[in-house]
Amino acid sequence: MFDTKMVERIGELKKERNAVILAHNYQPPAIQDIADLVGDSYELSVKASQTEAEVIVFCGVHFMAETAYILAPEKTVLLPEKLAGCPLADTITAEQLKEFKQEYPSHAVVTYVNSSAEVKAESYVCVTSSNALKVINSLETDKILFTPDKNLGMYLGNKTEKEVRVWDGYCITHERVTVEEVKRAREEHPDALIIVHPECPPEVTRLADEALSTGGMIRLGAETSYDKIIVGTEMGLIYRLSKENPGKEFKLLSPGLVCPNMKYITLDKVVESLENLKGQVTVPDEIAVKAREALERMISVPSGD
Ligand code: SF4
Repeated sequence: MFDTKMVERIGELKKERNAVILAHNYQPPAIQDIADLVGDSYELSVKASQTEAEVIVFCGVHFMAETAYILAPEKTVLLPEKLAGCPLADTITAEQLKEFKQEYPSHAVVTYVNSSAEVKAESYVCVTSSNALKVINSLETDKILFTPDKNLGMYLGNKTEKEVRVWDGYCITHERVTVEEVKRAREEHPDALIIVHPECPPEVTRLADEALSTGGMIRLGAETSYDKIIVGTEMGLIYRLSKENPGKEFKLLSPGLVCPNMKYITLDKVVESLENLKGQVTVPDEIAVKAREALERMISVPSGD
């Protein structure tokens, strides 16, 4: 089927199924173009919890679809490709987190949403990169165990007065960015603003002009007076930034900024998923209830960078 036919078919199926399509900022252009909402994981989680649609097609990776299900268990949540996982989320299991907690029994567990439902269920509160600092600062305790992303955890540890101990996980895509690439971008584009995601290594984040969540990058892209911006996050965001800001130039900081897991979903897989309700994601009740508490604590804190 040609793309235009598939896009038409997706429109028909959405009506038949009363479905909404949510796409993460890192999804391929063709998927972003058919989505009802393109956003970061925070925006998409909130939308999932509020939608009146009966079916949520989650174009992203597995933990995002799980999060949507946890927040809206009465809906059918579909992940069109079951192989779309997140290597960062896989760096910690619930058992490992239990052991980490035993080592630091007086610390509160703050878990990045890029984690499994089981790990969320063992956590006090979840965060995204856009609200993490606010959430941490809103907690009564001064002692934090941050999982699973060490780079984001160390970044937050430098921004808050609180003690932040980090799990040794990382995103293989953002971890690849090097100091040399930032220095080269400065030399080649002295007139550009350099922004990176806090999942990048700390030495990279320190050299950049700003470290921002993808939601923060979208806002900055619209508001900045710079007309050239070097972007240190997954390449999918360049498409959205360029589409929404046609007068500005957005360049990828590193050719390594590609997450293969985010590229598994294609138009034909969305069609197949909607036609057959294929790729349903669920979470057992006893885990979902505890994970929802951690997510709702996050959602109750106002968002923002
Ligand atoms: Fe996971 Fe990194 Fe891919 Fe995001 S970019 S889905 S954190 S591996």
